[in-house]
Order: sequence, then structure tokens, then C-alpha cells
Amino acid sequence: MHKRILVTGGGGFLGSHLCERLLDAGHEVLCVDNFFTGTRRNITHLLDNKSFELLRHDVTFPLYVEVDEIYNLACPASPIHYQFDPVQTTKTSVIGAINMLGLAKRLKIKILQASTSEVYGDPSVHPQREEYWGNVNPVGMRSCYDEGKRCAETLFFDYIRQHGLNAKVVRIFNTYGPRMHPNDGRVVSNFIVQALSGEDITLYGDGKQTRSFCYVDDLIDAMVLMMGTGPDFHGPVNIGNPVEFTIRELAELVIELVGSKSNLVFRPLPSDDPRQRQPDISLARKELGWEPTIALRQGLEATIAYFDNLLTREASEELLSRLPNAQPAPRVLSRTA
Ligand code: NAD
Ligand code: UDP
Repeated sequence: MHKRILVTGGGGFLGSHLCERLLDAGHEVLCVDNFFTGTRRNITHLLDNKSFELLRHDVTFPLYVEVDEIYNLACPASPIHYQFDPVQTTKTSVIGAINMLGLAKRLKIKILQASTSEVYGDPSVHPQREEYWGNVNPVGMRSCYDEGKRCAETLFFDYIRQHGLNAKVVRIFNTYGPRMHPNDGRVVSNFIVQALSGEDITLYGDGKQTRSFCYVDDLIDAMVLMMGTGPDFHGPVNIGNPVEFTIRELAELVIELVGSKSNLVFRPLPSDDPRQRQPDISLARKELGWEPTIALRQGLEATIAYFDNLLTREASEELLSRLPNAQPAPRVLSRTA
């Protein structure tokens, strides 16, 4: 059925892929973003589509629109970005959730929250199942994000219990792919940009901490499937790729795929950096019939191609801009991988 769907944070990495997927499925998309971390470049290719509408708006302010479904993704996601203005980060998660839940309640529509594996903090249970309540520092550098997202989950489940809302929560584990921000400090983008530029690869700590990396296309499949579940299933449900790698293994794989001569260098581990993270996705398998299909090597190849193209274009824009009477270089299009 044709729907008009609101995607908050639609100009970001995941949001832009979701907008694209929903348009491809024949829906209308209202993309709402304040472009704090997202960029118009991510959605330039959608602007001419008559079914796509862009609204610059901050979700910490109320929004009055008419839509049939809401995906709530607005929130900076990388530690560098969410720690830049931590108070705004918590406001975005908490007040943003209240505003979007209020909208869903008024319209009596489904709403899906992009929550995070960070709700498990530095987990003492491994792999993480949805029943695990987490090990989160409430007063640390990551707390604005972790606790903001935890509070948003609380709000979602209170709206379900108190107002009978058909709300859904997915807990997203580390996801990567084309359109990640090149300077957001996340490990996949950092390593690829460093390897492509021939710079040292920065391993924080001893590089033995683990993460499980999900390719963006797999993740978007799961989000759409979750939205399609019946009124009795709300999650929270883990979405991620359960194949676990050490950060050092990731670095070595990136160096191999890029064919780079970069060296590994060790830097201090940021505070509260989780030692290990791996999703138990049994619930997603059972309720969504979903599991990831794209292996890290394959996903990295597509992501490296994207960054290679982006860096080449940025370098040529920079060169062109230094020429006398320079014309603006063509804007980078996003679907380059
Ligand atoms: P991103 O930073 O690329 O996208 C977030 C988008 O939200 C950006 O376009 C940003 O401009 C927008 N935004 C931020 N604050 C806003 C506000 N107050 N009002 C309106 N728009 C606002 O990050 P992403 O990786 O695409 O993450 C999207 C969502 O998924 C986030 O909620 C994040 O917490 C969640 N998530 C992502 C990952 C991951 O690995 N990428 C993992 C767990 C959870
Ligand atoms: N990391 C690293 N080098 C970098 C960036 C990150 O070793 O240049 C490490 C980081 O300390 C963490 C892991 O990689 O242990 C994943 O970091 P990211 O910020 O991507 O995600 P998160 O910690 O939120 O899972």
C-alpha cells in the first residue's frame, strides 16, 4: 500500500539509504533533518523525485505534519559528533522522541525508533540478548548518547503501555557503508580514509576490543521488516551482523583491500569504550525472518569504492578552487559505490 512516510534524520548516513529504499518501494517520503551531521549531498539525487520532500527542522521542536508512518533516526551517532554538544544530544533523543511519539499518537500511526547497542554499555553478558539490561555509566562521556537512547526506549514502551501506540524499537549494532561521514571518527570510515590516504591507521588501546559490523543494506532490510510487523510485536530487537572481529583484524583487512602501505599505530583507548560487542540476533531471525547476507569483506569493498571516489572528487574540487576564475566543481553524488 502506498504511504507517506516521515524519516527523521533522513539526511544522515542510514536515513538517506532508508529514504531511497522507501521511495523505491513506491512510497512518498518526508525527510526531516537539521543537517547537524547529515548533508544535502546524501540526498541530492532524491531532490528531483516528486515523491520526496525535504524539511529542515530540529526534532526537539514540535512538528505538525500528516503522515502514515514514522522512522525516528534523528540523532548524531558517532562519539565525536554526539560529544560535541552533549546536552543537545540528550535533548535530541529524549525531546525528539516525545515530539515524534506525540505526532504518532495524534495520527494513530506506527513509529519506529532507531535505538542502539550502546544501551548495553560495556556489556558483562556476551553476546548481547535483548533481555540484558546493560552496563552503562550514567555520568561518563558517552552517557549523553547512551542514556538519551535508553530514555527514548522507556518513552516508546510507556507510549505503548499507556496509549496503546503501535511503536517499534530496533537496537542497531555498528553499521557501515557508503555515505558514512568521512570525518566522524567512526572506526570503519577512519580506517578506510587513513588507508586510502596512506596515513597511519590509528588503533585505540591494544586493538583487541571487538565489534560486529553490519552492512547498511542489510540493516535497512531489517528496519523495513520491523515496521511491517503486527501490532503485538514491539521489540526491542537487535539488528546487526553477529560475526565479530577485533579492531586490529578490521584494520588489517582494510589495509589488504585498499592495497595500502599504511602502518598500524596505537593511541589511548577513549573512556568507557566497550571491550566487546556482538549481537544475539535470534529474535530478529524468529520475528523478522531476517539475517544479514553481506560479509565484511564484500561490504568493505563497496565502502572503500565510495570513499575512494569521494576523496578523489574532494581533491579535484580543492585543486579547481585554487585556479584563477575557478568554476565550482560538480557536486559529489552519493551513489558512487
Ligand atoms: P548520522 O549522524 O549520519 O545521521 C543522523 C541524522 O540526524 C543526521 O542527518 C543529523 O543531521 C540528524 N539530526 C541530528 N540531530 C537532529 C535534530 N535535533 N533534528 C533533526 N535532525 C537531527 O548517523 P547514522 O549513523 O545515520 O545514525 C542514524 C540513527 O541510527 C541515529 O539515531 C543513531 O543513533 C542510530 N544508530 C546508528 C548506528 C550506526 O552504526 N550507524 C548504530 C546504532 C544506532
Ligand atoms: N577505534 C579505533 N581507531 C579509530 C576509531 C575507533 O581503534 O580510529 C575503535 C574505538 O576505540 C572502538 C571501536 O574502534 O573500540 C569502534 O569505534 P566506533 O567509534 O566506530 O564505534 P563504537 O565505539 O561506538 O562502537
